[in-house]
Amino acid sequence: MRSMHIRKGDTVVLISGKDRGKKGKVLKVDTSRRRVVVEGLNRAKKHMRPSQRNPQGGVVDWELPIDVSNVMLFCPGCERPVRINRVRKGGKGFVRVCRKCDREI
Ligand SMILES: [Zn+2]
Repeated sequence: MRSMHIRKGDTVVLISGKDRGKKGKVLKVDTSRRRVVVEGLNRAKKHMRPSQRNPQGGVVDWELPIDVSNVMLFCPGCERPVRINRVRKGGKGFVRVCRKCDREI
């Protein structure tokens, strides 16, 4: 299985859908389904039945998982979504490096 280049805590930009061009922080990574949940992006309303955790029930906003092919890593150096290279670094395995400015992300 290919490993994911996106990790929890990364800043990514959505490149398709209604939130295209917006960026947010990765909250969750699902490696087996190759999906990520990004804070504030791809939000949907969901009707909840009253439950113990949410005794009122009603409508809640939450983020739906996004296919990892629909997000790109945001480079703080370029201030834009970029493609990355994976570069082997002694002992640490791979690091991700911006293809444009060579910054380690
Ligand atoms: Zn860059």
